[in-house]
Amino acid sequence: MTDLWEESLNGIQPTVDIKTGKVTYPEANARLDEQDGAPVDVLEMLAEQDRLHREFQEKQYICPRCETKGMQYTSACPSCGSPETIRTERYRHTECDHEGMEEQFVDDDDIVCPECEIGLKSLDQLESDAANSCQNCDLIFESAEHRLRCRDCHLVTQPTRAAERILYQYYLTDQGAQWVEEQLTARQLVVETFKNRTMRTEIDTTVRTSSGEEIPVHVYAQDELLDDHIIAAVHERPYESDIAHLLTVAVDMDAHALLVTTSGTVVGEDIDQLDTDGRLTILEMTSDGVLQRNYETIADPTAQNSFVGRLTNIFKPQTS
Ligand SMILES: [Zn+2]
Ligand SMILES: [Zn+2]
Ligand SMILES: [Zn+2]
Repeated sequence: MTDLWEESLNGIQPTVDIKTGKVTYPEANARLDEQDGAPVDVLEMLAEQDRLHREFQEKQYICPRCETKGMQYTSACPSCGSPETIRTERYRHTECDHEGMEEQFVDDDDIVCPECEIGLKSLDQLESDAANSCQNCDLIFESAEHRLRCRDCHLVTQPTRAAERILYQYYLTDQGAQWVEEQLTARQLVVETFKNRTMRTEIDTTVRTSSGEEIPVHVYAQDELLDDHIIAAVHERPYESDIAHLLTVAVDMDAHALLVTTSGTVVGEDIDQLDTDGRLTILEMTSDGVLQRNYETIADPTAQNSFVGRLTNIFKPQTS
């Protein structure tokens, strides 16, 4: 989101593997952690929140038999259904009404009507019509049927039998830009707060837990003199689970935990109970950009972790 906001990234485009039909979002994939879930799900979630807007890129068809994505268009024989048809011309000699394919009129280098045996200067002297010829059943026909063919199981089917999937490109909305700005402002306030206390501060870094796992964190600050350190996270509306994750890492590293809520609210019920040894500080970023110890706790509005909850996951320090 920051890269989109800074315009170092223009948009997020799907890439379709021509051989397999598999769709990936490389720009999103490179910027998400495994725990965030499938990039397309994250993008869709952000789109539903109006933080990204979608633009049609292409439509994919999914095989009704094996579910492989990206069926290919093919024309097919109306009689036997084979896709092995070729476009050709059907010729008619107006003098004798004989009709036939090119090879019937071409005899070595000469062009001769096989019916009345009159020689012709070129095929241009014959009337011609577009036609198709089936290599499988030898039928000559005017127009082919529209079909889709599976790259994997080779099923040839009517387009209406295949499920459709639309692929989108994603761009940052104004609302999304505002949200990124707010999150970054809050992070910057945290950084300045630490720097004012002459702490060594790292932004968007990772910390190593006792088990050797690298955990991404928003801000990590160290006071080398006093051998103190703080892990800080910025969330729009942190959930209890976000706080629990932050605390797990902080406990493991024997660090303080600082959580900033940019909405001024925290979602959950037993937040005080999570912080058994008093290492957690929760601050609110006010609308005029000040950090203060004043936030509101609200009950989970959706019971089943909402979009916002899933969204904050993207920015939270992850634990396994
Ligand atoms: Zn045929
Ligand atoms: Zn003829
Ligand atoms: Zn298939």
